[in-house]
Amino acid sequence: MADLIEGRWQDEGISSPMEDMTSDSSRKYLNETFARLHPRDRLAFLARNVSGPVVFTTSFGLEDQALTHLIADAGIDCRFATLDTGRLFAETHAVWAETEQRYGIRVEAFHPRSGALDALVHQQGINGFYHSTEARHACCAVRKVEPLGRALNGAAVWLTGLRADQSGNRQGFEFVSLDAGRDLLKVNPLLDWSRDQVAELVRDAEVPYNALHDKGFLSIGCAPCTRAVAPGEPERAGRWWWEQDQTRECGLHVTPDGRLVRVEKAA
Ligand code: SF4
Repeated sequence: MADLIEGRWQDEGISSPMEDMTSDSSRKYLNETFARLHPRDRLAFLARNVSGPVVFTTSFGLEDQALTHLIADAGIDCRFATLDTGRLFAETHAVWAETEQRYGIRVEAFHPRSGALDALVHQQGINGFYHSTEARHACCAVRKVEPLGRALNGAAVWLTGLRADQSGNRQGFEFVSLDAGRDLLKVNPLLDWSRDQVAELVRDAEVPYNALHDKGFLSIGCAPCTRAVAPGEPERAGRWWWEQDQTRECGLHVTPDGRLVRVEKAA
């Protein structure tokens, strides 16, 4: 767990130093402080005040690229990690390599356990996630959730590129929250930024970005589970899109290769 570096709270004008960040009052203070700061200063504040390993999990989306730039720019001591699910776009691997070169960093890859992956594919097929929400969750559990646990092993602080206005369920997120299950602080330095602000930073600083963003992909995950979105669609409408379409459109079926086809009704 993240401890405060002794004495630093006084530097920030806090009258009674707190012993750790697990307390409600510490996190309340952090969230109030972060609300007044630029993301760059939020990172600097963390670097000055928190001890323990910091891990940033990136999927190389626009927000993650902006955050990588800010972390590198601020010289934050941070481990970069990504979940290489085995189903990523070639464009994602390309921007991964470009990012390492630009910033002189290594982004550590966490892959699914081979035994668990073999069992998953044997059980549900190579594209079994299209068949049901349960099958999709099972795939994400093997390819993403378990590797994420390893990526965060030993971390005191988990940095993410989440923004509140990406989706409805992110509206209630905080800059700093306690992940009690993983015994760490989850920190979202870009939480209150808009997509336009992120895009402006990426453009102005010439940060490398995923080429798929120029083809209508706003949120990018695994290739078979991501599609481009039409103008005006929510940012994350292209993620697991068939589950949303299935609830909206009667008579549609997803084929094993991910195409939507209309099912003919029996006479
Ligand atoms: S996003 Fe799709 S391919 Fe990737 S882990 Fe989840 S279900 Fe599997």
